[in-house]
Order: sequence, then structure tokens, then C-alpha cells
Amino acid sequence: MGKLLFWIIVAFIVLLAVRLVGSAQARKRRDRDAAQRVTGPMVRCTKCGVFLPKADAVPVADGYRCREPACLPPS
Ligand SMILES: [Zn+2]
Repeated sequence: MGKLLFWIIVAFIVLLAVRLVGSAQARKRRDRDAAQRVTGPMVRCTKCGVFLPKADAVPVADGYRCREPACLPPS
């Protein structure tokens, strides 16, 4: 009887450990995905050379420009 109880406790601890490791990995993966979604790929302004997220950049013929008035192409 004592031996059975021992194995039940061992199985419980193993299951708990597997669960903890799995949720930690899932959280890490989710954090990394969220960080990538927020920043996205970076591009360089062809005029002033500043790096900015591609989503905030203005595409021009020779690359990307930042949104500084001096860098924006004349419209
Ligand atoms: Zn610029």
C-alpha cells in the first residue's frame, strides 16, 4: 500500500513538472511572437539613415523614408 501511494505521488510530480515546463515554453513563444508583431522588420531611411519599423516607413523609389518632414519625398 505504501509503495502504491509512493508511485501515485511520483506520477503526480512528473505530470506537474511536464505541465510547468510546457506552459513556460508556451509563454516564452507567445512573448516572442508578440514582440515580433509589435516591432516587425526594421528598415533604414535612405535620407537620414535612421532605422524604423517597416510599418512606420514611407516606401519610395530607392527604399524607405522616415516620417520626418525633411525626409519625406515632395508630394
Ligand atoms: Zn529620415
